[in-house]
Amino acid sequence: EVRTRFAPSPTGYLHIGGARTALFSWLYARHTRGKFVLRIEDTDQQRSTEESTRAILDAMTWLGLNWDEGPFFQAERVDIHRAMVRKLVDEDKAYYCVCSPEELEEKRKRALAEGRKPKYDGTCRDKKLPPSDGAVVRFRCPQEGTTIVNDLIKGKISFNNEELDDLIIQRSDGYPTYNFAVVVDDAQMEISHVIRGDDHVNNTPRQILLYEALGYDIPQFGHVPMILGADKTRLSKRHGATSVMAYKELGYLPEALVNYLVRLGWSHGDQEIFSLDELIGLFDLGSIGKSAAVFNPEKLLWLNQHYIKSYPEDKLLDALNPFWNKLGLEVSDPDYGRHIIGDLRARAKTLPEMAESSTFYFTDEPPIDADAAKKFLTPEIAGHLEAIAEALAMIEDYSKEGIEVFLRNLAEARAIKLKTIAQPLRIALTGKTVSPGLDDVMLTLGKERVISRIRRTVS
Ligand code: GLU
Repeated sequence: EVRTRFAPSPTGYLHIGGARTALFSWLYARHTRGKFVLRIEDTDQQRSTEESTRAILDAMTWLGLNWDEGPFFQAERVDIHRAMVRKLVDEDKAYYCVCSPEELEEKRKRALAEGRKPKYDGTCRDKKLPPSDGAVVRFRCPQEGTTIVNDLIKGKISFNNEELDDLIIQRSDGYPTYNFAVVVDDAQMEISHVIRGDDHVNNTPRQILLYEALGYDIPQFGHVPMILGADKTRLSKRHGATSVMAYKELGYLPEALVNYLVRLGWSHGDQEIFSLDELIGLFDLGSIGKSAAVFNPEKLLWLNQHYIKSYPEDKLLDALNPFWNKLGLEVSDPDYGRHIIGDLRARAKTLPEMAESSTFYFTDEPPIDADAAKKFLTPEIAGHLEAIAEALAMIEDYSKEGIEVFLRNLAEARAIKLKTIAQPLRIALTGKTVSPGLDDVMLTLGKERVISRIRRTVS
């Protein structure tokens, strides 16, 4: 059975890169009908916060990346890690080291100055030191041979063991280091496929050696290339919002973000739009590209527009509500809300944009743009508008077609072009020169509102 995992460190928000890694792991588990495990790697006591854990879980939930097991908390497993460290020490595969940080730093500097690659020199390697305060535990790393990573994405990578340090596996505070805890946890949680960012690729040979030393089966590894900004440097705050929840705040739909994220590195021909079910059916690790993906905000916006257009009405209403509330607006009649959405969704790129352009629906006297009034609401036009209000009061077929026919007939009867009254009417109803289609707006507002808005403009 395939078992994948996502193992974030709770030291900040879930960012775009982490979310994409989580998505790939999740999709692979779903595609293979395997299991997706969530593990919070919170052994760094200084930097881990509960707030960050919550933020990560919220973001995953918002994206729809549900987990089958967990969340497990690595810090709760420290006793297990310590027991495994002790086992390695007992088997002489690891040892206590009392070299002071100052000493090590001194040696590191000297190596650099002499043009050597800094590496632990093995001072404590064969001293068989007992545990003591301030001692760390190091893994006795094989010094010859090569370690091969058959990466599912990058292909075969070999590492010279000679290059690898005697890695610290337990810090002086008794906590395991990342490389050790991750191996013990992935093994004990029976993870079959470790999918993660390629910033970890150099850790993988060390981890493989630890798997071997601990007598565990070695999982498959897939390292996902990183995400770059448009200037080809690593994606960071300089390139705009990087946290997943910031995109929620900015009015993106989760489906749009998921669709966007999956295309950052994975492809299926030149198809751009994928439903979640489609992704689950099609996703495979072999189609993840080897080179870095470039973040393109325009494309995300385009996808968001697509999903706004095609979203189920009630879901869109729910998603839009917070943005209306932010503007002090409330949709008391869901039917009215649905109509508004219907008018606006064809052109909106984000939810706040949609909420903002809808304010005129909520106020009986939308403020009228002064320049537009001067240009379009002339005394002559006022006469036409008055006639519209009067005739409207009597029309029977107040449907989209009915309204269209009504306006056309009225223009004809008054020997004017439809164009002559369309813009003034729009301004009377919305206060602005740009709005959804006039007949849509009239239909949504309803006859009464339309008549009273026209009247207040001409009076
Ligand atoms: N906690 C590690 C990180 O967030 C996990 C890396 C891994 O997936 O092994 O970078």
